[in-house]
Amino acid sequence: MRVAMIGTGYVGLVSGACFADFGHQVTCIDKNEEKIALLRSGGVPIYEPGLDQLVQRNVREGRLDFATDLTEAVRAADVVFIAVGTPSRRGDGHADLSYVHAAAEEIGQVMDGFTVVVNKSTVPVGTGDEVEALIRKVRPDGDFAVVSNPEFLREGAAIDDFKRPDRVVVGTENARARDIMRELYRPLFLNETPIVFTSRRTSELIKYAANAFLAMKITFINEMADLCEAVGANVQEVSKGIGLDGRIGAKFLHAGPGYGGSCFPKDTLALVRTAQEADTPLQLVEATVRVNDARKRAMADKVIAACGGDVSGKTIAVLGLTFKPNTDDMREAPSLDIIPALQAKGARVRAYDPAGIEEAEKLLKDVEYTTGPYLALEDADAVVIITEWNEFRALDLDRVKTALKAPVVVDLRNIYDPAEMKEAGLSYTSVGRP
Ligand code: NAD
Repeated sequence: MRVAMIGTGYVGLVSGACFADFGHQVTCIDKNEEKIALLRSGGVPIYEPGLDQLVQRNVREGRLDFATDLTEAVRAADVVFIAVGTPSRRGDGHADLSYVHAAAEEIGQVMDGFTVVVNKSTVPVGTGDEVEALIRKVRPDGDFAVVSNPEFLREGAAIDDFKRPDRVVVGTENARARDIMRELYRPLFLNETPIVFTSRRTSELIKYAANAFLAMKITFINEMADLCEAVGANVQEVSKGIGLDGRIGAKFLHAGPGYGGSCFPKDTLALVRTAQEADTPLQLVEATVRVNDARKRAMADKVIAACGGDVSGKTIAVLGLTFKPNTDDMREAPSLDIIPALQAKGARVRAYDPAGIEEAEKLLKDVEYTTGPYLALEDADAVVIITEWNEFRALDLDRVKTALKAPVVVDLRNIYDPAEMKEAGLSYTSVGRP
């Protein structure tokens, strides 16, 4: 099958490369000329484990190429994916659909023969109808079907998630499009991946419901962590104790600094808006958004408290800046709230991240970056672990103690054992544990 992927970001590039790896002929398109030039020269614009080899192999074997103009690829395509960004619209939290709409119009202008247009971007209920109307307007005679096929991959494990998903969701009422989507995903079908065929609107809502549920689960355990701190219980053991219940499940029950990233914050907000407009407010999701926003700010207070109530003139070392490990994605990362809050109280911040520094430099002011974790700790008054990169999980604790001016460690991801830290002579604060 011939696939055109419009938008070559975290989702478009991973999906495009994986479809090529399934044996399809894929062109990834992006308006960003630098990105396409880099890909054409053999580079990869994002940090995602395994992606460079996957892209290079499929380019070499002639199944994957790149373009800044969609005309040729869309004309030849059986399936055209829209995988452009849908950020929060400034001011009201609605999903900004301008990139999706622009892509739809461009597709309409050039498509040729029966074309399945697939919305892979996360878009509010009813967007499929809008995309269909936009294409119909520019091509009244067009032979096409608009399908919803939301993406559930996680950054940092994106390739494996794409190739071994828990499920694939396809929303369409069009039988011909359904057959083409089944054929496109056939390699997964053979692996017995459940494919949920449903209506377009239901499919659009499934994506938001999934993200809102996961955000709620994280927020639930974060509030539990606060309660644990207040009453002397251990949130990790609470998580284990409830997570072993098959109805609850163990995943997404790790207490931490609050969720961030390119999806949960914007998607929970967009769902809240959709529900308000439909006069069916989702109060649990509204509370989740509120609690999570407050939490990120509260994490700075936790650091300040660990430093004896005052960070003015002190140097705080930060380990981990990205919203989660194994990505360079800084979008809505908790570090973007925590660091400015510490700076506002007079702290100097020195930070290290294995992949996020280039992005962080664009978003944070007055931070000194180092090339390794121990360099960040040198003579600092405290260290805060914000992202649980593997390389922070087994630091040499003697070296940590020697490097720091004061032996204060704030671990917002609970990656160390409190008893071990005490034994190492460190003053250790974590989340929801005695
Ligand atoms: P991204 O910002 O990394 O990539 C989007 C790309 O689209 C950019 O490179 C941009 O230049 C390009 N673009 C915009 N308009 C274009 C146009 N008209 N023609 C060609 N290219 C265009 O975004 P992302 O993280 O890949 O997310 C894309 C969508 O997938 C969003 O709706 C997001 O919510 C959803 N999603 C993301 C993830 C994730 O983990 N990042 C997971 C699931 C779903």
